[in-house]
Amino acid sequence: MELTLKGDESGWWVVCHRQQVWQPQGELPYGRAAQWHLQQRAARQIGEWQGEAVWLVQHEMAQDMGSVRQLLSHDAVLFQLAGRAVQLEAFYRSHRFCGYCGHDMVHSTTELACLCPHCRERYYPQIAPCVIVAIRHEEKILLAQHLRHRGNMYTALAGFVEVGETLEQAVAREVMEESNVRIKNLRYVCSQPWPFPHSLMMAYTAEYAGGELRHDPSELRDAAWFRYDRLPELPPPGTVARRLIEDTVVLCREADS
Ligand SMILES: [Zn+2]
Repeated sequence: MELTLKGDESGWWVVCHRQQVWQPQGELPYGRAAQWHLQQRAARQIGEWQGEAVWLVQHEMAQDMGSVRQLLSHDAVLFQLAGRAVQLEAFYRSHRFCGYCGHDMVHSTTELACLCPHCRERYYPQIAPCVIVAIRHEEKILLAQHLRHRGNMYTALAGFVEVGETLEQAVAREVMEESNVRIKNLRYVCSQPWPFPHSLMMAYTAEYAGGELRHDPSELRDAAWFRYDRLPELPPPGTVARRLIEDTVVLCREADS
């Protein structure tokens, strides 16, 4: 429920505008609203962290606005809540008018939704399911360099789920399209909301079942099988990709012994 801040409300403040989050001194501001000059701003509580409220304030500060990605190294739960704030801010900003009839929309007071008072349509934040998979072949892992990533980092294969597709089909299709490899023994590992801009990553491990590795140059710069003890530069800790690779390294070590 949205409220106008009086000044004595306290907690963590996710002040956000156009996917950017206010991070004075490189961190999320914590304390009373007045301490951060947030009185009179509209705010919405979006969760709790360490027993304190986490607030979303849709506003652009004059400075210290940065990507929520910078919070990834601080704390997993706080990163997740800040990611929730960023996605809600984008949702409310992109749903000012009804897509069916063009009427002005209102925010629901009971749930995270926008309502059209004219045609009664109800809109919820969009979440794009995305699959990511670490593939093992004996003591090697299939890793790829994506064209959209900068630097020399290698990571697991990933892609968006298409409409009308199961998660299992999406994994098999993405792997075939990007690497020409067939997989077996697909195992679900975990999931991670990924607010760039509104993905939900569903992470899997799988085993090589056949096919000659040949990467898709329209998506990947390179793809290769790496021995578990001779890995290239990997995604940072805290990402689901890193966890998948580390889980697969354990399996490789077992296969190698
Ligand atoms: Zn409408």
